[in-house]
Amino acid sequence: DRLHGVPLRTEGLSKSFGGNRALDDISIEARPGEVTALIGPNGSGKTTLLNLICGLYKPSGGRLLLGDEQIGGQPPYRIARHGVARTFQTPLIPKHMTTLAFVATGRYVTHRVGILSAVLRLPKFRSGYAADNAEARALLRLVGIADVADQQVDSLALGTRRLVEVARSLASGARVFLFDEVGSGLDESDLAVLERAIGMIREAGGTVILVEHNFPLVLKLADRIHVLSQGKLLASGTPEEIQADRRVLAEYTGA
Ligand code: ADP
Repeated sequence: DRLHGVPLRTEGLSKSFGGNRALDDISIEARPGEVTALIGPNGSGKTTLLNLICGLYKPSGGRLLLGDEQIGGQPPYRIARHGVARTFQTPLIPKHMTTLAFVATGRYVTHRVGILSAVLRLPKFRSGYAADNAEARALLRLVGIADVADQQVDSLALGTRRLVEVARSLASGARVFLFDEVGSGLDESDLAVLERAIGMIREAGGTVILVEHNFPLVLKLADRIHVLSQGKLLASGTPEEIQADRRVLAEYTGA
């Protein structure tokens, strides 16, 4: 398939901060062509797991595998070059840049070029500039925000910025997508566009890992759900299985 999908697996992955075990012995698999959701109450370790996968944190134990390659402990830029893209709950957005230009810079994440060179448009990248912009425009259309292409990206509403990050991660040529709360702050019509975009990534063979508070959205989008509780894996299953799981219900309702 177009994205050369690749499975991402964790084996006994752990992370401690001082004496606090934020993640304990997590073994999960996210398959290509599927949406894998991570859910759990605040502080259960979801963000820590995303940070381990994208290289912002180094594991305290266990392994992180992209296909057959162990990538755990590699720095973020190397993991990004393997084709792992991450969006942030609070997107890191530059000032004085159009949305179109910002999405186009996503392209340089997986190349052997720093983002700064891309932003500064050094001469050797000029040849691809028009092509990059055409692609960026197409990606903005895909996530339903073509109308903001020429606006300054730092002037956009938070929900729109999250969609911009989704478009930018697509421009990077990634095959594994870590989406951190991309649905929050979106209205119904933006949510529908987001659902469609994530559905397209899945159909193209991408591996999608979704951290999301919006439970109905998770049930709609996920092929498989992993529930974290106090750093441990509480349950894994299909949306139907998770909905019927009493332990999950108890975790959420305190019942
Ligand atoms: P969630 O995303 O599910 O809300 P987090 O992964 O943010 O949970 O947090 C899990 C635990 O790890 C919490 O106890 C949190 O305080 C701790 N933690 C996360 N990041 C750090 C850090 N950089 N330093 C110290 N503790 C951290």
